[in-house]
Amino acid sequence: MADLEKFRSETRSWLNQNAPESIREIRFTELEGNWGGRKFEFAHPDLKVWLEVMVAKGWTAPAWPKELGGGDLSNAEARILAEEMKNLKLPPPLMGFGLEMIGRTILDTGTEEQKRQHIPPIVRGEIRWCQGYSEPDSGSDLASLQTRAVEDGDDYVVSGTKVWTSYADKSDWIFALTRTDPSAKKQDGITFLLIDMETPGVSVWPIQLISGKSPFCETRFDDVRVPRKNVLGQVNGGWSVAKALLGYERNMIAGAFGAAGGSSPKRPGSALANLARDYGLGEADGPLDDAAIRNDISQVEMDARAFALTTQRSKDAARAGHKPGPESSLVKLYATELNKRRADLSVRIAGPQGLGWEGAGFDAEEIDRTRSWLRTKGNSIEGGTSEIQLNVIAKRVLGLPDA
Ligand SMILES: Cc1cc2nc3c(=O)[nH]c(=O)nc-3n(C[C@H](O)[C@H](O)[C@H](O)COP(=O)(O)OP(=O)(O)OC[C@H]3O[C@@H](n4cnc5c(N)ncnc54)[C@H](O)[C@@H]3O)c2cc1C
Repeated sequence: MADLEKFRSETRSWLNQNAPESIREIRFTELEGNWGGRKFEFAHPDLKVWLEVMVAKGWTAPAWPKELGGGDLSNAEARILAEEMKNLKLPPPLMGFGLEMIGRTILDTGTEEQKRQHIPPIVRGEIRWCQGYSEPDSGSDLASLQTRAVEDGDDYVVSGTKVWTSYADKSDWIFALTRTDPSAKKQDGITFLLIDMETPGVSVWPIQLISGKSPFCETRFDDVRVPRKNVLGQVNGGWSVAKALLGYERNMIAGAFGAAGGSSPKRPGSALANLARDYGLGEADGPLDDAAIRNDISQVEMDARAFALTTQRSKDAARAGHKPGPESSLVKLYATELNKRRADLSVRIAGPQGLGWEGAGFDAEEIDRTRSWLRTKGNSIEGGTSEIQLNVIAKRVLGLPDA
């Protein structure tokens, strides 16, 4: 305990000395966060300084091995670092699918060569990754995917189309599920490939989202040659790698959209109550006039607090080295449904002003609220729909028989 207290005070003073003052309390929108990668532009020059000092310390991936660029911190130390960063209102120095999804999966499953090739650039924020799972005819039934990878000498030749590939236009590498054995049972003929997006034959087409932004794309592969050494896990054994990665993805989505942080405020109740007062539904600091709104705000606040305790438990388990299992579907389901409920309520509170898309009748905050509300509709689809999470919970957490 004394060692940990010493670590805490050293960490606090190191952060105080090294984190630029200007980035404290910065709040990212979904598209602005520190995503890294060759095409990335920092929203503020001091965010670059922040990334560089944290990379040098190994603290963009504090619990990952030092020889791969991590910080070699114990689980308890990593938790203290996270707490101290939160106390100082510091944003994450780096985020994204590299750190949260594929990096973890490569550490679990990759060869030593793959770890040495891919982990350091992820940790340094040099390479940004995107996810090539969904296809035009394979979403919930992911294992039916049709993108082919045919062996040819030392390469696989990949052809097919991926869709809803978030940030493909901003990414450097993609991890993709491909069909290598069309004659096998659908789950058994899939291979997980790591593909450099600069390889000839890869093309990317942005798709506009309901919120008006374009975070995702269609990604096409036309005879793309991928070296055999880029197979992650076993040839035709990609389904188990894919499912393990989905566990990390669902935990990441729960962290981003749940009450514990990210784009939804940690205390949604006070934010919603203040909004209601702004729209004349109550006096400053007094109770809100509308009992139904009051009740719904209290419910969101209570659910958010209870959920924060649950996510804290799953974060602790992750720091203690537990790999996410099917229970990641529980947190993904709850976080995203809660975030949708919170956003629906904010629009209800704002009344007609909650539906502003553009124009002089709405201020910037109102337009942003409408668009963010529409964006939440995707929360219960991305990373697998809520219905699919319910199926996973029924079968793999509760052990219920097939209907
Ligand atoms: C914002 C956003 C970002 C995304 N980013 C990515 C990404 O980066 N990479 C990627 O590969 N994909 C991404 N996706 C795609 C996402 O994974 C798929 O949209 C999702 O898996 C659903 O597939 P689908 O759209 O084909 O819907 P479908 O599978 O066609 O489902 C249609 C409806 O049927 C329901 N349904 C289907 N099967 C069942 C069943 N067995 N039981 C009960 N109900 C069922 C679904 O719940 C849904 O309501 C993203 C999606 C969104 C919205």
